[in-house]
Formats: sequence, structure tokens, C-alpha cells
Amino acid sequence: MISVVYSPRYDIRFFGVERLHPFDSRKYGRAWEELLRLIGPRLWQHHVPVDRAVTDEELLLVHSAEYLAKIRHPKALATALEVPPMRYAPGWSLRWKVVKPIRWATRGTTITAKAAMSGGVAVNLSGGYHHAKPDRGEGFCLFSDIALAVRSLRAEGMLREGQRVAYIDLDAHQGNGVCHQFMNDKDVFIFDMYNSVIYPFEPEAKQRIDCNLPLPRECRGVEYLRILRNSLPGFLDSLTRSQGVGLGIYNAGTDVFSGDPLGRLALSAPEILERDLFVFDQFRTRGIPVMMLPSGGYTRESYRLIAATVSHLLEDLGTSPVS
Ligand SMILES: [Zn+2]
Repeated sequence: MISVVYSPRYDIRFFGVERLHPFDSRKYGRAWEELLRLIGPRLWQHHVPVDRAVTDEELLLVHSAEYLAKIRHPKALATALEVPPMRYAPGWSLRWKVVKPIRWATRGTTITAKAAMSGGVAVNLSGGYHHAKPDRGEGFCLFSDIALAVRSLRAEGMLREGQRVAYIDLDAHQGNGVCHQFMNDKDVFIFDMYNSVIYPFEPEAKQRIDCNLPLPRECRGVEYLRILRNSLPGFLDSLTRSQGVGLGIYNAGTDVFSGDPLGRLALSAPEILERDLFVFDQFRTRGIPVMMLPSGGYTRESYRLIAATVSHLLEDLGTSPVS
């Protein structure tokens, strides 16, 4: 059974912030509406609500107290989210209108991880903040929802000591924050395919990647899918050969879409769907629970791309038990 984790509280509505920022801050609600249109009321059978926003106490598992205190101030928040005019907004309004939805989405990722562990496949319609570091937010990423999900599963015994996690990052940007979060964690294995000529350009982070696949600018879908098909099966086989993998985390950034102003790769919509279904298939054939996070995507089509993948998963696997 597939779980779709979503809350209407994910959307950010802050005095037209979407006009100041390439981010479609309402794409989560749009993705949900599109899924309802494609799937119909049956979608509700798969819906898992989010109970609350993540707390600072929980975030201390992955962030320093100094960082959490710092981002209470508009200036630091504006820097992390890369919306300079935000620094002039009142702190209370930013915390309520901007940070709160991100806290809900961060909590949603932990719920998604638990749903994947118990049901086999789960999707959060937000999250995938792969640039957030232990003591710094950047690249629109405030909280490291990915690291928090892994540490929460371990704390609650759902992932055992020494059980492996496979993190597959196919967002157009290199997941530098995840690399820092798991710098000394040898049970998390990182596969990262990214555009090598865009942010973040961080050699130290790249050294942490277990399967490092930099791509050329404007890499087209045929070449992209060839590299993925040649690399991912062997990567997963190498992890499962000696030991089981407890969880797969798929960062499915749609900023690989042709025309995306930040990702600058050139995949078509059908090629993104093919990419996503291939990744899920690789996990499922190996019997590994898998969760998906939508991460980046800066075109008006982003929500449709997310919904297309989730609707196909629901059509293909929706009623079948997940091994
Ligand atoms: Zn990205």
C-alpha cells in the first residue's frame, strides 16, 4: 500500500513571496489537487495526514542550538531562504507564514519515512531539503528533514543499529547538506547525480558521495537515463550483497526538467516519469522500503510532474501488497 503524506499547511502564502522567488511556494497544494483530479476520491485511501509541525527539540537531533536561535531573526532567515526582501519583514510574521509551513513539511518527511518502513512505499508532497547543514541553512533549505527522518527512525528502533540507508539524490543540484549531515555516518550510502556547473560547488561535500555522477550542463534525457540505468542497479547491489538495506530515500527533484531556470538540465516530462518509476522499480525488486521527496523544481509545471509520478505509482502499485 502506498502512502501519500500531505497537509494543506505545506503551502507558503506570504504577501506574494512567490513573486520574489523562483520557488512555486504553493506547488504542494497544486500537486495534491492534480492528484485528486487524476485519481479521484480513491486518493483519500492513501492519504496520511501530518499531525503537527516539527519542534525545535526534535530539530536538535540534526541542527545546532545556535543555528536554531539564529534563524529566529529575519536577516538570517532571508539569507537561508535566499529571499533578500524578507529581512525587512517582522520576525513574527516570517515565523508564522514562512517557517511554520516548512516545519510541517519537515515533520511530514519523518511521517513518510515511518509509513515507508511499515507499508513499503511512501511519498511526501513536500520536503527534500538537501542543502540544509547542521549549522547553516542555504539554497531554500532551512531544516534537514532527510537526516531528521533517519535519526528519528533510529531513535525509535525502526531502523536498527548498523542497518543501511540508501540515499538517491536526483535533484539537479548536488545535495551538499545531506553530505555534511552524514559526513561520519557510515551506514548511509549516497548516490548523487547532479549538474556539475551550478550551485553548490563544494568539493568537501562531494568527497562524501559514495556514487558521484556529475553531469554536463543541458544534459538531455537519453544520456541522463543511460547513466542512471548503468549506475543505480550496481550501486544498490553493492549495498545489498553483504547486508540488508533498511530504507531507500529518493530525492526526486523535478528541476531536471527542460527549461528549469535553476537546474539547467534538459529532461522531458515523460523522461522524468521514466526516471522516477525506474528508481522505484529498483528498490521494489530488491524488497527495500522506499520513500520519495519532491525537493527542487522551479517551473510552473513542477507540480504536474510530481503528480504524474505519484499517480502512476498509485495506478501500478496502489492496491498490491508491497514486498
Ligand atoms: Zn535543486
